[in-house]
Amino acid sequence: MAVFAGFDLGGTQLKYGLIDDAGTLLFKDKAPTPPTIRELMGLIETLWQDLKRRESRKIRAAGFGFPGIYSLREKKIFQSPNYAELDNFDLYPAIAEYIDVPFWVDNDANMAAFGEWKCGAGRGVSSMVLLTIGTGIGGGIILGGKLWQGSCGYAAEVGHIIVNPDGERCKCGLQGCLETEASAPAIVRKYRALAKSEIPLTSEDIYHRAKNGEEKARHAFSEAGYYLGIGLGMLINLLNPEKILLGGGVMTTGEFLLPPTIEEARRRSYKATFACCSIERAGLGNDAGLIGSASWAKENLTDANKMD
Ligand SMILES: [Zn+2]
Repeated sequence: MAVFAGFDLGGTQLKYGLIDDAGTLLFKDKAPTPPTIRELMGLIETLWQDLKRRESRKIRAAGFGFPGIYSLREKKIFQSPNYAELDNFDLYPAIAEYIDVPFWVDNDANMAAFGEWKCGAGRGVSSMVLLTIGTGIGGGIILGGKLWQGSCGYAAEVGHIIVNPDGERCKCGLQGCLETEASAPAIVRKYRALAKSEIPLTSEDIYHRAKNGEEKARHAFSEAGYYLGIGLGMLINLLNPEKILLGGGVMTTGEFLLPPTIEEARRRSYKATFACCSIERAGLGNDAGLIGSASWAKENLTDANKMD
């Protein structure tokens, strides 16, 4: 039985763990994300040594999911809006100093999609899209039984397709991105505008207000769902995927977000194509990224061995 390690870097936490051949999670833990890249590399070394001590079997390969635009050619993160320390940092040589097995790096949302596909709610399909909806919106695409990375590695930036051409300016520089219309901060912004409220709130607070029957809170979710549905309609018509999985923190409010989303996606896509696509909640929760990174390492190692 072979063992693989996965690391998933988020803005606040580095999640990591081990899976076996079958994709079963053997161990997981997390550590606070260090503020500097030097400390991050030091933490990866410590955690790696820790994993090796913990697991009596040999860990065969490791995978890393990092936030940001990952270049396949340069093997670097070009731009990471949530962890700028990664920008243009020479990842491979730095990680290779500590990790003494083959390892692979990719974008965190791609890794989460790969995890859901191999071990979660996407198991068994040959095409699917995962959207993780939280502070931002990340995406990953599986097409023809493969992770679709795009020609340079930048594919599946689903959060930055334009769903509202006259909408708010996004952190990415574009205007009216799906992320500016349907992420957690977008739901909060929409509610505040409707309720003329200045008090600090989270999307979770607004969910509770909606649950208590507050009309404006429900309306904030329908507005976000409207734009999310437009985005899903585009994905459905463009890719004809078997499944679209929705994950991320905002899905705890799915009760109010999902019905308007699905309704709008239905209105915005071909009837036959919509009928082929199942829109569901993702299955692995916060573990999708680390399970996906570890599975990605396993997949790449298997492919590399086949070539030998
Ligand atoms: Zn954007």
